[in-house]
Amino acid sequence: MDCDVLIIGGGVAGLSLAWRLAGTASVVLVEAEETLAYHTSSRSARQLQPSYGPGPVQELTRRTIATVQQISAGLGASILSPRPEVIIGTAGQVSGLTSANPILKPLEHADALRLSPDLRPAAFEAACLDDSALEVDVPALLEFYRAGAVAAGVRILTGAPVHTASRTASGWTVGAGSSAVHAAVVVNAAGAWVDPVAVVFGVSTLGLTPHRRTAALLATATPVNPAGVMVAAADDSFYYRPDGAHLLVSPCESVPSPPEDAQVHSGDIEALARRLDSVTTLGLGAVVKAWTGLRTSPKDGLPVVGFDAEAPGFFWLAGQGGYGIQTSAALAELAAELIAAGAGHPGRHGGTAVGPGTGEPRPGTAAGRLSPADQTLAEALSPLR
Ligand SMILES: Cc1cc2nc3c(=O)[nH]c(=O)nc-3n(C[C@H](O)[C@H](O)[C@H](O)COP(=O)(O)OP(=O)(O)OC[C@H]3O[C@@H](n4cnc5c(N)ncnc54)[C@H](O)[C@@H]3O)c2cc1C
Repeated sequence: MDCDVLIIGGGVAGLSLAWRLAGTASVVLVEAEETLAYHTSSRSARQLQPSYGPGPVQELTRRTIATVQQISAGLGASILSPRPEVIIGTAGQVSGLTSANPILKPLEHADALRLSPDLRPAAFEAACLDDSALEVDVPALLEFYRAGAVAAGVRILTGAPVHTASRTASGWTVGAGSSAVHAAVVVNAAGAWVDPVAVVFGVSTLGLTPHRRTAALLATATPVNPAGVMVAAADDSFYYRPDGAHLLVSPCESVPSPPEDAQVHSGDIEALARRLDSVTTLGLGAVVKAWTGLRTSPKDGLPVVGFDAEAPGFFWLAGQGGYGIQTSAALAELAAELIAAGAGHPGRHGGTAVGPGTGEPRPGTAAGRLSPADQTLAEALSPLR
């Protein structure tokens, strides 16, 4: 099977890039599991939070929200709903947040209680608000990316783990499940497995470490307001928000893990439920459902997007950490432009069509092909070596 671009990984990163590249290059996407988005992409809290993360992540989030709003408008039913976030803590914690982050607005104590009447008044000293945060229907967004990619000719193979790779004159020959794929460019979008995948290609790893994080749906003694706000601790020790008739909660743990099918650790959710009973009057009850995913980042906490400096034709789309949904469309756009510029595919910005694999993809070859804003953004992300 021949293609211009082989994408490894069928999570939100791989699917959004497949959607974005479709029609500009021939694309094959391979996913190890039988089901797309089986790992972290189906285990998120489904939030798009403009105030969350460092500056480049906030810019990627702003762009992604604009794109997802367009996607949503084109679908029969909206996939976005307002889910403002109230952050609570000590006066010092909250003023530290608001002075560093202009998106966050200080809230009077009474206004925080008005927005979230289930909060116990004594549980916090001060509060601030991100009133631009949204909840997104992640399954619908993933299906939009998948269906758009397939409709434009992308071939998706599931149950096809990449196990071997060798360099050829024009790119790579990759063994994925029982298939052999010949590609000019390989994109490593394997989430928690990006470093092990690099090893298969003989490419030096980047030290991207998966960290486990758990979320759960809990029953409550008093009904939750389905349209209520999200509440988060300023010290990042928990968050909760309504999810239909239940409360979605997370203890916000960040514990290093091997790349694996992450599982809930016994006691994590029960301990959080006890803590949240001192924060809200909702009366937390039975665990309806709980899950754990892996958030994978480099040490600087920024996504890694670009061609590897030491391995021509090997592109990283990795390290999205806790922001992979809210940055997906913008990272896909940026990655598609960098691939077009670096590998010679005609892209949105009109890269020279010298033919797949004939270029020497290197960081920086996109100069002059990306808009100045995109170039600045690409350079602000995690450095590739
Ligand atoms: C509890 C929790 C809450 C979160 N909440 C949010 C949120 O509200 N908003 C937000 O933006 N982000 C959130 N995130 C983060 C977000 O979910 C991730 O950043 C994102 O899903 C990562 O997507 P991915 O495609 O890189 O990884 P994945 O979804 O893990 O996809 C990678 C895929 O690569 C495949 N793969 C691995 N090795 C191979 C191989 N050798 N061959 C072929 N395929 C392979 C895997 O099977 C996997 O399907 C949350 C994460 C967690 C855990």
